[in-house]
Amino acid sequence: MAEMKGIKLAALEDRKRTIVRVGKVRVGTGFTVIAGPCSVESEEQVLETARAVKAAGADMLRGGAFKPRTSPYSFQGLGFKGLKILEKAREETGLPIVTEVIDTRDVSWVSEYADVLQIGARNMQNFALLKEAGKSSKPVLLKRGMHSTIEEWLNCAEYILHEGNPNVILCERGIRTFETYTRNTLDLSAVCAAKELTHLPVIVDPTHGTGKVSLIPMMSLAAVACGSDGLIVEVHRNPAEALSDKEQALTPDVFSAMMERIRPLRRFMEGLK
Ligand code: PEP
Ligand code: MN
Repeated sequence: MAEMKGIKLAALEDRKRTIVRVGKVRVGTGFTVIAGPCSVESEEQVLETARAVKAAGADMLRGGAFKPRTSPYSFQGLGFKGLKILEKAREETGLPIVTEVIDTRDVSWVSEYADVLQIGARNMQNFALLKEAGKSSKPVLLKRGMHSTIEEWLNCAEYILHEGNPNVILCERGIRTFETYTRNTLDLSAVCAAKELTHLPVIVDPTHGTGKVSLIPMMSLAAVACGSDGLIVEVHRNPAEALSDKEQALTPDVFSAMMERIRPLRRFMEGLK
């Protein structure tokens, strides 16, 4: 049996695999696709994107209202206004909302708008934030820190579980290596490792994992092939005008074509089980 230091509640051992329920979506059964813009920029932008990703088969809508940016001069997100826009998109499309929370003081009120709270790579080891998220009734999408080992990542999931929140979705989003062609190095072996060590669902973010539109569709298929429980992907109606992460946003058309290629591979993978 595969084991890891400090991993108790998250350990697979002889437990059943966790299925995280988000409305009608069951993360951990089938293949869950979360898509939407990096940042919430305007109502039209989010609604248009939400309709497009839904039509292409996405299960949930992503969009950041609070953005952890490298520079304080970069767009920081619309905050409360952004959450209201996401709420409207959910009302119209029925897609549950995944949105990032970056401050412990925001967890409880953001939980009233979000269906899933995202904890980003930069905050993976923000233990105060993990504890707050662990007290929330909403599922938590925990991204792997860009400098973190699998052991550190799983221990962060353990923090959330330890506070009483059993609904954690792990997300591999690439780590920093010496490689510079890609934004990060997508570590798909971490998906398989996390699945042999824990009972939690694990999804892949090929968008931040590569930082390159040209590589995202193939890495998404690779995520299906390695047994990931889903994907989180950035989609923008006009990537050139995106206020964050423009070089890695798929257009709705490219996203839709990618979804068409995922379906047959999913069926093939199901047949191997
Ligand atoms: C994001 O999802 O837009 C994001 C900031 O991701 P990460 O925390 O993985 O960099
Ligand atoms: Mn982003």
